[in-house]
Amino acid sequence: MGIRAQPPQHHCRGPLRLRLQAFLAATALAVSLLACAQAHAECIELPIPDLQPLATLEDVNANQALAKARALIAAGVGDHSMPPLRLAALYAIEAQSSSILELDADARAAALKGLALATPNDNPVYLSLLISYAETVYDTPGLRQQVDKLTTTAARQPRGSPGSACLLKTLGWLQHRLNRDDLAVGTLTNAFRDSALPALARQRARVAEALAMVMDGMGDFDQALDLMQQTLSWEQAHQAVQLLSVTRYLRGAILLEKGDYQPALAEFAETRELARQLADWQGVAYADLRTCETRIQLGQSAAGRPACEAAQATFAAAGVKDLVKQARALLAHADLDAGQPARALATLNEVLDQDGTDIVPRAVPQLYELRARANAATGNHAAAYADLREYVQRARAVSDADRARSGSVLRARFRVDSEMERNALLQRELSLTRERASLQRDQLDRRADLLAAGAAVILLLSYILIAQRGHRRALQRIATEDSLTKLPNRRRTAELATAALSEAIATHTPLIIALVDLDHFKLINDVCGHAVGDRVLTELAALSRSMLRNGEVMGRWGGEEFLLLLPAQPLDLALARVEALRTAALEIALPESALPAGLRVSLSAGLATSYEGATSLDEVIARADVALYEAKKQGRNLVRVADESVQASTTAVRRALRARRQ
Ligand code: GH3
Ligand code: MG
Ligand code: MG
Repeated sequence: MGIRAQPPQHHCRGPLRLRLQAFLAATALAVSLLACAQAHAECIELPIPDLQPLATLEDVNANQALAKARALIAAGVGDHSMPPLRLAALYAIEAQSSSILELDADARAAALKGLALATPNDNPVYLSLLISYAETVYDTPGLRQQVDKLTTTAARQPRGSPGSACLLKTLGWLQHRLNRDDLAVGTLTNAFRDSALPALARQRARVAEALAMVMDGMGDFDQALDLMQQTLSWEQAHQAVQLLSVTRYLRGAILLEKGDYQPALAEFAETRELARQLADWQGVAYADLRTCETRIQLGQSAAGRPACEAAQATFAAAGVKDLVKQARALLAHADLDAGQPARALATLNEVLDQDGTDIVPRAVPQLYELRARANAATGNHAAAYADLREYVQRARAVSDADRARSGSVLRARFRVDSEMERNALLQRELSLTRERASLQRDQLDRRADLLAAGAAVILLLSYILIAQRGHRRALQRIATEDSLTKLPNRRRTAELATAALSEAIATHTPLIIALVDLDHFKLINDVCGHAVGDRVLTELAALSRSMLRNGEVMGRWGGEEFLLLLPAQPLDLALARVEALRTAALEIALPESALPAGLRVSLSAGLATSYEGATSLDEVIARADVALYEAKKQGRNLVRVADESVQASTTAVRRALRARRQ
């Protein structure tokens, strides 16, 4: 039975055994390599003993099975003594084999012919045909129709029967295809649990495979590998070479995503050998493509290059454009590694000639990152900068979408499994996944910062040589501006604060420093999504910009924390200014999803004054921080001023310490 993972808008075209549409997967983000993968296998056994060897041949060599089934059908169609159910079973084998070979239209046609003959309903032949048909449907209305059909048919089957397990497997798979992983996980988990008996080992292997691919999409690689291993064991035990070649490939892809490169290489080598035995040249090319990619990840791009070139040639000969692009993108990566940025750039320009619209969305950010590097290395600084921005934007969008999806899936999983009384375990898993997601987010942010910083250095250095005005402004912006809020970044804010402090000391005027921190921001992110969190940050920045007066500065100090510099004004005035900002921030709107949680945007702030003799910015900020902590402790949405007696006493302590040291 066909299993195809694919993002909803990106249909896998062409008669390919396997399709994978992700580049450079393991670089920064967990990018699903199985975005568009498919594997097939017969799930239901046909109740006609002498056709059993033919059905088994599907697992071993689908091409041969297809040829034999067609020959028998041709003979049977004119032979009126052949029982209709037998002919229907032959159509079921034809449909299955076609599906394995990705001849979708053929598979559907054969399934329909078989369905017309397979009576009574709900016998295994009928179910097999129903499943074959459903698994070759891709359009949304068609999928919905099949989901209904499978749901009602599954409800009629005894629980724990092969038919029930297989129907649920396909139902879960179609839900996944409809982008409803929240439903798919529940359906597949039930099917997995129901097929625990040894008699249902075949069904369990198929269900495990489907569930593995859904789990992989959710970034749960260990679970996915574990499930894949179950599928693999069954296929090994049954010498199902055709199926093994696919499963090994999928396992390799998960390992690659997970960053386990050596085991991934081993799986791809096995895949290649099996595909070669089956004379499946595109299968060989897929294995080559991933081998090359894994080598690049290992820093062995020169060694990987021949595999990429071979894959490119095979896919080009087959006219599969997107896979040619994948191979070329990897070759560009190798060029860059080999110190050939101009060549890499030319290739990447071709790969991105449609702005990535012909590439699966999750693979696109890395291509921009790669091209930014190629551009920077060839001195195209403006282009490098534009590509970096594109990279950060697109990577954010992808990771936000992933997070939103995996959050709802986990919640759904929790609901399903709470019936199974595994609450505690899942609750822990939920929090672990949240942690992992926020870690991933942080890594992305850090990486984006690092890239911006790295590029800024390159650009600044070359600026000295180029000395162009426009460039200079752009470069300064990169080095000093926070990309999300457009406020001064932390480094720039620290510079400005140091200067303001020196000025205050020199002119004997007060400088008030406020630390401003959004309240319950993590919750806002969790409930409304990161994109909303980002919008809140931007809106607060815009607010502050509209409210600040000459000489006043608001900088992004980190995450959801800002540093406000209020020079040359007494404390009570400064306090009123910060209070005004606090009140204004209450007007920042949140989407309706925040309402049930009673969430709203608010901020807390801590103020500290530079006093006579203050020499260290750190010290003033530390006191502001103490005041901020007080504001948080007293309930948030508050502004607090650092206790000057604390200041006095710490000053006294410091004086005493200094005295002792002298
Ligand atoms: P408190 O009221 O005590 O300050 O709680 P909090 O949730 O605001 O504080 P905490 O430090 O626990 O969480 C801060 C969150 O801010 C965690 C982090 O994911 C989020 N954050 C940091 N930078 C960004 C960003 O650039 N965009 C978004 N959307 N969230 C961010
Ligand atoms: Mg906070
Ligand atoms: Mg904070």
